[in-house]
Amino acid sequence: MGTAFNMWINGQSVQGEAEPLDVLNPATEEVIVTVNNASVAQLDAAVDAAKQAFSSWQYSSHDDRKQALNRIADNIENNAAELAEIVVKEQGKPMFLAQAEVSGAVAWTRYAAGMDIPTDIIEDSENKRIEVQHKPLGVVGSITPWNWPLMIAIWHIMPALRAGNTVVCKPSGLTPLNTLKLFELIQQELPAGVLNVVLGDAEIGNAMSEHPGIDKIIFTGSTPTGQQIMRNASSNLKRLTLELGGNDAGIILPDADIDAIAEGIFQTAFLNMGQTCAALKRLYVHESQYDQVCSKLADIAQQQVVGDGLADGTTFGPVQNKKQLDLVAALVDDAREQGANVLSGGSRSDSAGYFYPPTIIAGAKAGMRVVDEEQFGPVLPVISYSDLDDAIAQANASNVGLGGSVWSSDLEKAQQIASKLECGTAWINGHAEVLPHAPFGGCKMSGFGVEFGLQGLLEYTQPQTININK
Ligand code: NAD
Repeated sequence: MGTAFNMWINGQSVQGEAEPLDVLNPATEEVIVTVNNASVAQLDAAVDAAKQAFSSWQYSSHDDRKQALNRIADNIENNAAELAEIVVKEQGKPMFLAQAEVSGAVAWTRYAAGMDIPTDIIEDSENKRIEVQHKPLGVVGSITPWNWPLMIAIWHIMPALRAGNTVVCKPSGLTPLNTLKLFELIQQELPAGVLNVVLGDAEIGNAMSEHPGIDKIIFTGSTPTGQQIMRNASSNLKRLTLELGGNDAGIILPDADIDAIAEGIFQTAFLNMGQTCAALKRLYVHESQYDQVCSKLADIAQQQVVGDGLADGTTFGPVQNKKQLDLVAALVDDAREQGANVLSGGSRSDSAGYFYPPTIIAGAKAGMRVVDEEQFGPVLPVISYSDLDDAIAQANASNVGLGGSVWSSDLEKAQQIASKLECGTAWINGHAEVLPHAPFGGCKMSGFGVEFGLQGLLEYTQPQTININK
C-alpha cells in the first residue's frame, strides 16, 4: 500500500516487538501487509506515556480540546479517500459504505467537539452551594472490533479526549490498518502521549484490562470477551463501558405496508453484510403476510451485486474473516437440516475471497441455531407468528438485548409493542440507526453503559461533588 503502518507511543511512530501479524484482504485472501504486534513492555510504555500526558491534558481548556477535535475532523475529511480505500481493502465492505464510515467518523468527531460538559447545581442557597463537576478519569483503554473499525475507534476516542482523558487504543488484529493510518494523520494535532495505539489480540487485551495504569476500558466486541474484560478489570475497579453482541428481533405487525418497508428491512438486516452489532438478526412476520415478506426479501437479496468492494457497482462485499464465514455457513446448514427453506444465497461463492451472498431463510423457528445465536453475517431467518404476544415473548427469549424493532403503519400500537421489547434501543419502522446525539447501549448480556449524547460523554468522567459553605 506504499505506506508504513506503525504503532504510535508517546508521539513516536514505532514498530511492534512481538510476533508478526498478516493483515488479509477478505475479497482476495491475499496479505495486504505484515505488521508486528506490541510486546507487553510496549503496552506499558504506552500507558506510561498516556499517564504522563494526562497530568497536563486534564487541565487543558475546553476550547483547546474543542479546537483540537475540530482540527482532527478536518484532517480525517482531507484524507477521506485514502482512509476509505484502506477500510475496503482490509474490512471488505463496498466503497460507498467505507465512504459513509469515514463521513461518520468526521461527523462524530465534530459532534464531540461541539459538546459542553455541564456543572450540575444541586443547591444554591444563602449559606450553601453544592455543585457536581464532571472530571476526566485518566487513561482510557479502547478495544475495538473489525466490523466498523474506523468509526468505532472514533466513537471511543473522541468523547474520551473531549472530556480530558488520554487514550491507549488497541484495534482488532483483523483490521488494524485504518486505525494506524488515523493515528498517523492526527498525531500532530495533540500533545505527545495523549493518543497512543498498540497492536495485539488476547494477550495485549488481557494486559490492558488488568493494567493498573488504565482507569477505564471502553470495549466493543463479543460478549465472552466482554466478560473476560470485566473479570480482569476488577483488579483496580476500572470503569467499564461494554458494547457487546446482540440478536436483535424485528416484528412486523399485520397492518404493515410490506412494499413500503421491505427495502428498509433488507438494508438494516444486511448492513455491512450483516456484520453490524445492532443489525436486524431475526424477523417475526404475521402468518397473513409471511409468504409476501419472504418473497420480497429474496427478490431484493438476488438483486445484490456481490464482489470486491473496490469494484464499480458492488453492493455486497465478502464476510470479513474465515472464522465468521464458517460460522455463517454452519448456521445455514443447521437450519437447512432442520427443514428450513433457503430462498436466496445459502452457500459460499466459488471464487477466492470470503463471499457469501445474502441469504433469506424461510421456515425458521426457535431451536435453529440461526434463530437462537447471533449470526453476525449475511443471513436473515424469517419466523412466522400467529399470536402477537407469542412473537414478543420469542423476541425477548434471548440472553442479549441490544436493539429491536416494530414495523407498522399504526405508530401508537407500534410504540406500545416497542416498549415491551427487552433491548437498549427500540426502533419503529427502522433498525440499526445510530446517531451522535442519541444514547446507544445494550441491556442483559449485550453489555452496559451507553455511548453518544451527553450520557455517553459523561461515561468518560468521574463526578465530584463540591460542597461550599458560604
Ligand atoms: P471479539 O470480542 O473477538 O474482539 C473484539 C476486540 O477484542 C478485538 O480487538 C480483539 O483483539 C480484542 N480481544 C480479544 N480477546 C481479548 C481479551 N481477552 N481481552 C481484551 N480484548 C480482547 O469481537 P469481534 O469478533 O471483533 O466482534 C464481533 C462481536 O462484536 C459481535 O458479537 C458483535 O455483535 C459485537 N459488536 C458489538 C457492537 C456494539 O456496539 N454493541 C459493535 C460491534 C460489534
